[in-house]
Amino acid sequence: MLGESLLKKIREYLPEEQIFLNQSLKDMTTFRTGGSCSCLLEIDTEEQLCQLIRLFGRTEQPYFILGNGSNTLVKDAGYSGIVLHIDRSMDAITVEGNIITAEAGAMLSKVSRVAAEHGLSGLEFAAGIPGSVGGGVVMNAGAYDGEMKDVVKSVRVVGKDGEILDLRGSAMEFGYRTSVLRNRPFVVTAVTFELAPGNQEEILAKMEDFNRRRREKQPLEYPSAGSTFKRPEGYYAGKLIMDAGMRGFQIGGARVSDKHCGFIINAGGASASDILDVMGEVQDRVYACFGVKLEPEVVVLGDPEKKA
Ligand SMILES: Cc1cc2nc3c(=O)[nH]c(=O)nc-3n(C[C@H](O)[C@H](O)[C@H](O)COP(=O)(O)OP(=O)(O)OC[C@H]3O[C@@H](n4cnc5c(N)ncnc54)[C@H](O)[C@@H]3O)c2cc1C
Repeated sequence: MLGESLLKKIREYLPEEQIFLNQSLKDMTTFRTGGSCSCLLEIDTEEQLCQLIRLFGRTEQPYFILGNGSNTLVKDAGYSGIVLHIDRSMDAITVEGNIITAEAGAMLSKVSRVAAEHGLSGLEFAAGIPGSVGGGVVMNAGAYDGEMKDVVKSVRVVGKDGEILDLRGSAMEFGYRTSVLRNRPFVVTAVTFELAPGNQEEILAKMEDFNRRRREKQPLEYPSAGSTFKRPEGYYAGKLIMDAGMRGFQIGGARVSDKHCGFIINAGGASASDILDVMGEVQDRVYACFGVKLEPEVVVLGDPEKKA
C-alpha cells in the first residue's frame, strides 16, 4: 500500500491523469499476463523523473522502470512498489548529420526507420525489436549483425539522487544482453547514436530482410518476450531446448513454441506462474541432458518474498 503522504508528494510533481493506483500491468507487457502494481506513473519529462527519483530516494520507496514491457514478466501476485512507465509520451527523436538522439521512450523500430529515412546505417538490426530505446540500451539489445553497443555514442541518465549524468558509450560496459545499467539505480532518459552515411535503398532492404526472417522463424502471432533465455556460450538456447525434447512442452497456457524453441509463448490464458514453471522445467531438463545452465534473459518483476 502506498502511504497518503507519499501520494500527496507525487501529486505535486505529476498531474492526476498520469497517476494510476492498483494498475494492472497485463497489457503493458508483451507476455500479456501478470498482476498489478500499487501505483503506475506515466512519465513525460526528464524533470518529472528527477523530482520523483529524488523523492523515492529520500523515502526509500522501491520503484521499477518499465519501457515497452517486451522483456519483462510481471508475477501474478504483482509488485507492491511503484512503476515508472517511460514510453511513447517521451519519444522525441532529433537528427543532426549522422547523429541521432532519441528519448528513452521512443520505439527502437521508429528510431531505425528515422535513421533509414535520413540515409543513416547502423540501426537496421533494431527494426524488428519491439522495445524502447531505454530498455534496448539497458539490455544491449541486438539481432542479426548488430547490437546497441556498436552505435551508442552516449546515454543520458538520471542518477539515484535525481542528478543528470551523461555516460559515454565506452563507459557502458556492454556485454551480451547486459550493460552497466542493469540492476543499477539509473534511469535512461535519452540515447545518442552515431551512425554511418549509407545507401537508403540498401538500408531499407536490409531492414525488410531482417523482418522477413523474423516472421518466418519466430512465433510473432503469440504473446511472448522474445528469446526467454540468454544464449549460453558455445550453444543456442533454442537448439538445446529442442534437443532436450521440449518442443511444444506446455503447462497451463504457457508453451515452448513449436516454431522456435527459444521462445516461451503465452498460447492462451497463461498465468505468469505457468510461464515461470515452464522456464524452470526447461532449465532443469536442459541441465540434466547437457549440463548447461540456461540463464533467463527476461526480467521478472515482483516482490521477492512472494513466489509468483
Ligand atoms: C517478439 C519479440 C522479439 C524480440 N527480439 C529481440 C531481439 O531480436 N533482440 C533483443 O535483444 N531483444 C529482443 N526482444 C526483447 C526485447 O524487445 C528487448 O530486450 C528490448 O530492448 C526491451 O525493451 P523494453 O522497452 O520493452 O524493455 P522493458 O521490458 O520495459 O524493460 C527491460 C529492462 O530494462 C529496464 N528499463 C526499461 N526502460 C528503462 C529506462 N528508460 N531506464 C532504465 N531502465 C529501463 C527495465 O527496468 C527492465 O529491467 C524481443 C521481444 C519480443 C517480444
